[in-house]
Amino acid sequence: MNRQTLDDLKTQIPLLRFLQAHHWSPARSLSRDRWMGLCPLHEDHKPSFLVDPQRNLFYCYGCGRGGDVIRFVELYHQVTFSQALALLQQWRGTGPLLQQTVRFYQVQLNRHSEAVAYLHQRGVRSPQLIEHMQIGYAPGGCLRGWLTQLGHSLTALRQTGLVTGSGYDAYVHRIVFPLEGNLYGRSISPTAPPHRFLPASKGGLYGWAQVQSCPEVVLVEGLFDYAVLWQAGFRNVTCALGNYLNARQLEQLCDAPRTLYITFDSDGNGSGQKAARELSQTLRQRGLDTRLVRLPEGHDPNSFFRQGGDAQQFQQLLEEAEP
Ligand SMILES: [Zn+2]
Repeated sequence: MNRQTLDDLKTQIPLLRFLQAHHWSPARSLSRDRWMGLCPLHEDHKPSFLVDPQRNLFYCYGCGRGGDVIRFVELYHQVTFSQALALLQQWRGTGPLLQQTVRFYQVQLNRHSEAVAYLHQRGVRSPQLIEHMQIGYAPGGCLRGWLTQLGHSLTALRQTGLVTGSGYDAYVHRIVFPLEGNLYGRSISPTAPPHRFLPASKGGLYGWAQVQSCPEVVLVEGLFDYAVLWQAGFRNVTCALGNYLNARQLEQLCDAPRTLYITFDSDGNGSGQKAARELSQTLRQRGLDTRLVRLPEGHDPNSFFRQGGDAQQFQQLLEEAEP
C-alpha cells in the first residue's frame, strides 16, 4: 500500500470520529480544539489521553503511547500494521452504517414495550447498563427505509446483511447489541431462531479493552450473562458469544498472565461443561491460570441472578471454582 492510499484512509476515517464510535468521549477541551479524555489503551482514572482532531493524532500522558488512527487500531486491537489496515478498511465500509443502525435501534427500544418487557424478563433493568451496552430493539420493517433515506444504497445494506436478499430487514423482533464490526440480535419471539449475527466475524471478546488489564477475568457465553454480572457490580467480565472461542479471542486471553474464571452454562446435557474443560486445557497449555466455575445444575449466570442469586453468592462460586 502506498503513501497516498494510507493518507486517504486516514482522511476518510478521522481519528476523533473513530474514537467516538468506540465509546470514547472527551472529558474536557483544551486550547486549539484539542480534547482530553480517559485513555482507552490503559486503565486510566484521570483523563490523560490527548486527541488533536486537526492533526489526527493522539498521545497518552499515562502510558506514553501516541500516533495516528492506524497506530491506535494496532494498540487497541493488538494487531499488526497490516491487520490494522484491514480492520480500518472494513470499518470504512460498514462502520458508519452500523453506527447509524445501532443508534436507530437504540431509539426504538423505548418505543416498544414488548422489548422493554423482554429485557426485564431477562433481568436487565439498569438504564446505565442499557446505555453501557448500547442495547437497542429491531422491530423489523423500518430499518431499510431509514437507512436508504440517509443515503445508503440497497446494495450496501444487502452486502452487510442488514437487509435480506428479498429486501426485508434482517433483524425482526430482536434485542440488538453492537459488537465490533457485527450486530448480535436475540429474538424476543420463542418461535424464531434465538441468535442472529451479520455474516461477518463475531470479532474479539466483548468489551475486552475494559477488562484487559484485570488480573482476574470472568468469561461467560452470552451477552445476557454479561449483562446481569455487570449489573451486579462485576466489571471484570467478558463474553465469548458462544462456548467456542475463535483464534483472536484466544490470543486476547493469552496476551498477559491472568486468572480466567470460565463460567459457561451448566446445561443438562453437559455441553457447556465439556466446552469449558476443553477451553481450560487449551489455555493452560498456553500458560494461563484457569478455574472452572460450577453453577447449580441447569443454570447459566443469567438465570442464576434472575432466580434470586446475588453478587455475594456469585463471588462465593468464584472462590470455590476449581482448576
Ligand atoms: Zn494510556
